[in-house]
Amino acid sequence: MSAALSSRQKQLTAKADAAAWNRQLAGALPWARAVLISEAEAGARAFLAAVPHLLRRMDPAVFVAELRHRLLVPEAAEDMWCPECDGIMDCHSLHAGVCIAGGERTQRHNAVRNLLCSWADRAGLQPERERPGLLLPQRPGEVGLERRRPADVYLPSFQGSPTALDVAVTACQRMETLTEAGRHAGAAAAAYARTKESHLDTAQICAAQGVKFQPMVLESTGTWEPGASRVLWNIARAAAAREGSQAALLHSQLLQELCVAARSHRGRAVLRRRAALGTDCTNQVLRAAEPLLFWLYGHVLHSTAILFSQRAGTGHSLGELLLLRATVILARDTLKLQQQWAEYSQQKAEMGVEDAAQATSTTVEAVQALGPSSNTSAAPEMQLDVEQHLTQLLQRELGHA
Ligand SMILES: [Zn+2]
Repeated sequence: MSAALSSRQKQLTAKADAAAWNRQLAGALPWARAVLISEAEAGARAFLAAVPHLLRRMDPAVFVAELRHRLLVPEAAEDMWCPECDGIMDCHSLHAGVCIAGGERTQRHNAVRNLLCSWADRAGLQPERERPGLLLPQRPGEVGLERRRPADVYLPSFQGSPTALDVAVTACQRMETLTEAGRHAGAAAAAYARTKESHLDTAQICAAQGVKFQPMVLESTGTWEPGASRVLWNIARAAAAREGSQAALLHSQLLQELCVAARSHRGRAVLRRRAALGTDCTNQVLRAAEPLLFWLYGHVLHSTAILFSQRAGTGHSLGELLLLRATVILARDTLKLQQQWAEYSQQKAEMGVEDAAQATSTTVEAVQALGPSSNTSAAPEMQLDVEQHLTQLLQRELGHA
C-alpha cells in the first residue's frame, strides 16, 4: 500500500495495464494468445497511427475488418467452408490470411516487395527487382541454379556485401509454431525465415557466391522477424541520411506503409470470402458494434491529425483540415461500398440465389450496419457540406476570406 502511494500515476497506470494484459493472455486460447502477442508489436499496430494518405490509406471496410481481427471479434456464429479453397473458414476469419486460393497472397507478397524496393531506391541502394541469373553454376554438374531467383529485391551493396532480400508473409497461428508464438512475438516469422534459409540450401548457395541471403518475413498482422526489422531500420536510416530527415520518422512511415499493405490484402481477402458466403453482418453483436468501430476510426484519425498539426507547429487548423479531408474520403468510400453491396445483392437476386425482396432488405440492413455516416440520402449532402467547409477553411488559411 505504501509502495502504491509513493508511485506516480503514470507508473501505476503502466502497472495496471501490464496486469490486465497478462490476465488477458493467461485466459486466452493458444491461437488467440499468438494473435494477441503478434498484434501488440510495433509493425502490427502501425496501421492505427497512419494518416490516411496515399500508401498509408486503408478502405474503411478493410480497416473495420482489421480492427475486428485485432480485438478478436468473431465475424460469424460458426466455422464454415472457405468458398475459395474448401479449407475451413473459422469464425474469426484467420483462414483468410493464409488461404492459398484467390490470389490475395501473391498480391500481398508483390505489394510488400514493391514497397521495399521503392524504399531501398529512396535510400540510394540501387535495388533490382527479381534479378535473373543471380546464381551461376559453379561446377559442370550443377544444373538449374541459373533459373533460381532468390532475390525478390537485390541490393548490389548493403552493409558491405551484395544482398538478396526474399519477402514472405506467414501467419502467427500456424500449428507448427503455435506454442512458440504464444510466448514470443514474431516466433512464427522467425521460424519461417529459418525454413527459407535452409530450403534447397538457398542461404548456403548464395553465401558460396558472395551474396548474403536475407529473408524478409512478416506475419499477416505486420509483425516482422527480428533480422528483417534490422534491415528496415537500416533502410530508413539510409533514406533519412540522403534526404536530411529524421530516421525515426521515416522508419515509422515505412512500418505504416508496410503494415497497411499487408493488412489491406488480408482484410480484402476476409471481405471477399464473407461476401461469397453471404454471412456478412449476420451477427447481431457485430451490427451493433460497427457504428462504434467507425466512431473509433474517426477518433484515431482525429488524434493523428491533431498530433500531426502540433508536430508541424501549425496550430489546429491543419489538423482540422486533415480530419475533414479524411471524413470526405470516409463518406465517399462508404457510399461506394453501399453501391457495390447493392449491385452485388442485385446480381445475386438475378442469379436466383435469393429473391429480390430479400436482397433489398439485406441491402438496407447492410447499409444500416455500416454506421452513422452511411445514410444513403444524407451522405452526398454531408460530403458537400464538408467540401464547402474545407474550401472556407482553406480560404481563411490563405487570407482570401
Ligand atoms: Zn481458403
